[in-house]
Amino acid sequence: MAVSLQEARELVLSKCLPLASESVGLLELVGRVAAEEVKAPCNLPRWDNSEMDGFAVRAADCRAGGQLRVTAYLPAGKSAENIRVISGCAVRIMTGAPIPAGCDAIVPIENVDDVNGVITLKTAVAVEDYIRASGSDIAYGEVKIQVGTVLRAAEINLLAAFNRLDMHVVRCPKVAILSTGDELVPPGEIPGAGQIVDSNAYSLAAAVREIGAVPQLLGIARDNFESILDKVIQGLQADILITTAGASAGDRDFVYETLNKSGVEQLFQRVVMKPGGPSGFGIKDGTAVFSLPGNPVSSMIAFEELVRPALLKMMGHRNLLRPLQKAKVKGILRNNSGKTRFLRVRAQDTDNGLVVESAGNQNTGVLNTMLRANALVVLPAERREVGAGESVDLHFF
Ligand code: AMP
Ligand code: MG
Repeated sequence: MAVSLQEARELVLSKCLPLASESVGLLELVGRVAAEEVKAPCNLPRWDNSEMDGFAVRAADCRAGGQLRVTAYLPAGKSAENIRVISGCAVRIMTGAPIPAGCDAIVPIENVDDVNGVITLKTAVAVEDYIRASGSDIAYGEVKIQVGTVLRAAEINLLAAFNRLDMHVVRCPKVAILSTGDELVPPGEIPGAGQIVDSNAYSLAAAVREIGAVPQLLGIARDNFESILDKVIQGLQADILITTAGASAGDRDFVYETLNKSGVEQLFQRVVMKPGGPSGFGIKDGTAVFSLPGNPVSSMIAFEELVRPALLKMMGHRNLLRPLQKAKVKGILRNNSGKTRFLRVRAQDTDNGLVVESAGNQNTGVLNTMLRANALVVLPAERREVGAGESVDLHFF
């Protein structure tokens, strides 16, 4: 059951669908995907108001050198109900204060000399100067947030300005993460002879959180059917279950047997890519199950290329893949794998555009190269060698 990377992604995305919506409070909305359309329930600004600290005037009264008597003071937050600008007079007004009756322009404070309640105008004034008209920013009834919009600070400002407390967004997926292996101990425990610390669970949890989903660590299952089954049953309650290790050809690899017996419909068990080739995908009652390799680098790259797009789709996102960019190669890049090859590289912006070089030893066991890398170059199977100055596709991560 080996499939190409493209087939693997198509299978995964055909099974992973956007989740239902939930109502979420303003403070938790950033990064979430809108599941409802938001129309302006009112004009913004709601009423005509002053754009500047200055004086509310009648433009016809104002010529350069002319004088006006200041009759009232109108700060932001006060009603203009009992205030009127009459001919030959001005009202001192602050930014955001409502425009009083009789006024048709604002003169900024820096355009007058103000002596004992009489202002002398330095310039002429035109009707509507420095007045923010009601609805000039956002008009009542306009659709301002569409379904599928990723909410940023700007959208949240708008919702608060509309006096909304919450909004319907796509539910946030829960991602259960299961480490398997007799050699694993949890962080904090001292590894004995032949043991290593379970690090995959934490890099995967980090990657899940980076997207804005919720990781749930199931802990470590041992390399036997019962131990894995116990955790898989828990994990199938989540929206996505990710297992690492125990899914290759070794005589202690029980993950697929356990998934099969748990009723998971397996769509593939290998992808023609490197690293991350021994990656599988199945589905049970809407829960997507990814079986990733145990090797830390492989599990991270498999997450990046297979799980991340699925997770984003469940979260309601439309851009599922990181954008590919062209870069010029420094040195030589090789792909002898006969598979789609992801190379860990350092990419740098230069005067001649993006330039990449290998981040080091590309052996999948080498975490150090992952630490040095800021991008992955994608080489198709047939591209066995890329010489200096040639162009490649990459994406940052
Ligand atoms: P396996 O797929 O079980 O053959 O594991 C492949 C390699 O990944 C082995 O060297 C394991 O020790 C290592 N490995 C498996 N699980 C983890 C984990 N959770 N954290 C770090 N390394 C792991
Ligand atoms: Mg193992």
